[in-house]
Amino acid sequence: MADTIALVTGANKGIGREISRQLAAKGILVLMGARDRERGEKAVADLRAQRLPVEFIQIDVTSDASVDQAAAEVGRRHDRLDVLVNNAGIALDWCPASELTPEAFQKTFETNVFGAFRVTKAMLPLLKRSKHGRIVNVSSGLGSLTRNAAPDGGLTIRNQLLAYCSSKAALNMITIHFAKELQSSGIKVNSANPGYTATDMNQHRGTKTVEQGAATPVRLATLPDDGPTAGVFSDEGAEPW
Ligand code: NAP
Repeated sequence: MADTIALVTGANKGIGREISRQLAAKGILVLMGARDRERGEKAVADLRAQRLPVEFIQIDVTSDASVDQAAAEVGRRHDRLDVLVNNAGIALDWCPASELTPEAFQKTFETNVFGAFRVTKAMLPLLKRSKHGRIVNVSSGLGSLTRNAAPDGGLTIRNQLLAYCSSKAALNMITIHFAKELQSSGIKVNSANPGYTATDMNQHRGTKTVEQGAATPVRLATLPDDGPTAGVFSDEGAEPW
């Protein structure tokens, strides 16, 4: 059995695929989660061709049935989970708040907030069997209330993406509550801000490479036992909520 077993959601492309690659390169067995079997198996085959230890697992974070099935499958295959990276996310509302529709707002929360919550809850019994459990919620600088409210919060994208920004703020609250509840169990829960990274999400306008964007989530996924919990971090260190 591998020393460390990690699950990454939304691992078939972008930052999630690169997080998987970097974790697997450290010898961690990575369960690459994807909602689409074909896209997921293709990503797994690509990394396996580089001799990296990865497995495919089907998981649509918006579906109770899919998430429960994935948790049962992880339990059957490995009996525990050491690292959960809630990476799956969407950004639909590239418009000012006044043009956002309730449907787009709701859909964004379904994936970015309820999805991460659902997966965390389902995987928790397996994470509790780990000696060094780690949960990383892939958040965003756009989820920072402090930076959104500041006249110049250093955000590249401003005055749009209300649904996305507030979903990441809610995800940060999920981080804090689970971190506090799980503190005595040794499971560390942190939010990662990858920075503005060139992926399909932003039509590759991001200024960072996926290698750079994955670095903070990977660091938080592999924190030592004396590492922090209940924080939000970028590659520059601790960030404001
Ligand atoms: P991406 O290339 O669009 O990848 C998003 C991933 O999430 C895809 O694998 C996608 O799968 C998956 N996904 C979406 N809905 C899902 C669902 N219901 N169930 C399971 N998987 C689902 O975007 P990315 O930039 O790599 O984003 C990864 C994470 O980083 C997101 O949480 C995003 O908010 C965050 N982030 C990104 C940036 C940036 O600048 N790129 C900055 C800060 C934070 P499909 O291929 O099936 O759609």
